[in-house]
Amino acid sequence: MNYEAVIGLEVHAQVHTRTKMYCGCPVVEDTGDLPPNTCVCPVCLALPGALPVVNRHAVAYGVAAALALNCTVHATSIFARKSYFYPDLPKGYQISQYAHPLATDGYLLLSDDLTGERVGITRVHLEEDTAKLYHREGQDLVDFNRAGVPLLEIVSEPEMHTAEQVLAYATALRELLIYLGVNTGDLEKGMLRFEANISLRPEGTTALGTRTEIKNLNSFRALTRAVEYEITRQQEVLAAGGRIAQETLGWDEGREQTYPQRSKEHAHDYRYFPEPDIPPLHVDLAWQQEIAATLPELPQARRQRWIAEYGIRSYDAALLAATPAIAAYFEAAVALAEATGLSPQELANWITGELFRLLNEHDQAIDTQRVTPRLLCELLGLCQQKIISVTAAKTVLAEIFHTGDAPQAIVERLGLAQLSDADALTTIIMEVLSANPQQVAQYLDGKEAVLGWFVGQVMGRSRGKANPTQAHQLLQQHLEQRRSS
Ligand code: ADP
Ligand code: MG
Ligand code: ZN
Repeated sequence: MNYEAVIGLEVHAQVHTRTKMYCGCPVVEDTGDLPPNTCVCPVCLALPGALPVVNRHAVAYGVAAALALNCTVHATSIFARKSYFYPDLPKGYQISQYAHPLATDGYLLLSDDLTGERVGITRVHLEEDTAKLYHREGQDLVDFNRAGVPLLEIVSEPEMHTAEQVLAYATALRELLIYLGVNTGDLEKGMLRFEANISLRPEGTTALGTRTEIKNLNSFRALTRAVEYEITRQQEVLAAGGRIAQETLGWDEGREQTYPQRSKEHAHDYRYFPEPDIPPLHVDLAWQQEIAATLPELPQARRQRWIAEYGIRSYDAALLAATPAIAAYFEAAVALAEATGLSPQELANWITGELFRLLNEHDQAIDTQRVTPRLLCELLGLCQQKIISVTAAKTVLAEIFHTGDAPQAIVERLGLAQLSDADALTTIIMEVLSANPQQVAQYLDGKEAVLGWFVGQVMGRSRGKANPTQAHQLLQQHLEQRRSS
């Protein structure tokens, strides 16, 4: 029997606010960077009598994400208590949303093809993070800096069938959240965490099979490996005549295996009920529209527009839209280059090629390094006018990157201007021809491939400053003259 895998994803994204979800304690990029238990107050430590207050900015970010995910944002949503006991949960319950979440019924496109595959979004809601536990030298320690940090939970429909689709979904979602400023996308710091729900069903059937849920997948690699592993594991269980037990699994990074954490019998009963200390959350249409009006152009739409308007390759569009900063750089360069006749594709080639190489090599961000869009366009303008060669342009680019100097000044300082003056070039060509009578004879004998060798000699003698196309033309002229004389 052939089985089809069915996968639904739950994603927790830290919301990029300055303060926590229900109190005024600061949220820093990585709460673990601060001394433990320094970002705490009676609310997030759950001291008796402390009352939570909803962070308006977290709600606005949640609404922005929900709108970008094509969800219906509900005029009224309700915070709820999710009760369970664990040392990282000071109140003994998490304030989340349950029966009445912030938003429902959206979708995410897996690719830029607007008519292509989409995955339904079941719900988007707000909740709070737990504290962090540390186990070292026989001690169990709790750091409450992360307790109460806002999280956005995004739950998909069980509509994916392969690890590739799961990766496409996670990638598109991460990119969207980064564009919205909702999340930094920093997986290594745990800013985005995934849980995968997986079941199998006989091919051609529609009823859902029994699922397992893999918790705490914190990298794209772990996510895809775990999904692949779990699909295979379930296939093997079913092929051997066994049944899948509904259980929660962990992912063993080292062994690359899932392992049981708890079974259905040991599943939590969270005893959800509406949070009595927080009134219903109202997001009226006016506020929704206000947020909708501030949404930036989203990455999928942006790439589509570039391909249509600028005629760049989709491969380059993907690289250039990767972050809002790169996208802004590229668009600024395109606007400046319009006057110079440089095509957007040429700009794309230089940015994704040489500039990205320099950024990677020196671990720099595009918006804080020295090669501004203006300097890049000036440099490529020199190349376009054949004042410098492509090779020289690469040298100049690296020099701008390190010094921030103007391209023209660097060209002069390093003496990189091309010898396009025909007289100077002719002098060099005559020298090369008279120094190599043997090769001249070969050429006249019909071995025309030797022309390329002559171009190399001219380039060498000019120390790379000759314009190779022009050198090629002039060499051919002079050699042909010798043939006819
Ligand atoms: P819970 O909160 O207990 O994990 P949910 O109903 O919220 O349960 O579902 C969580 C995720 O599991 C969703 O992404 C959903 O699409 C997915 N899911 C539910 N049932 C199945 C199933 N049988 N197979 C695969 N995924 C499923
Ligand atoms: Mg779940
Ligand atoms: Zn606090």
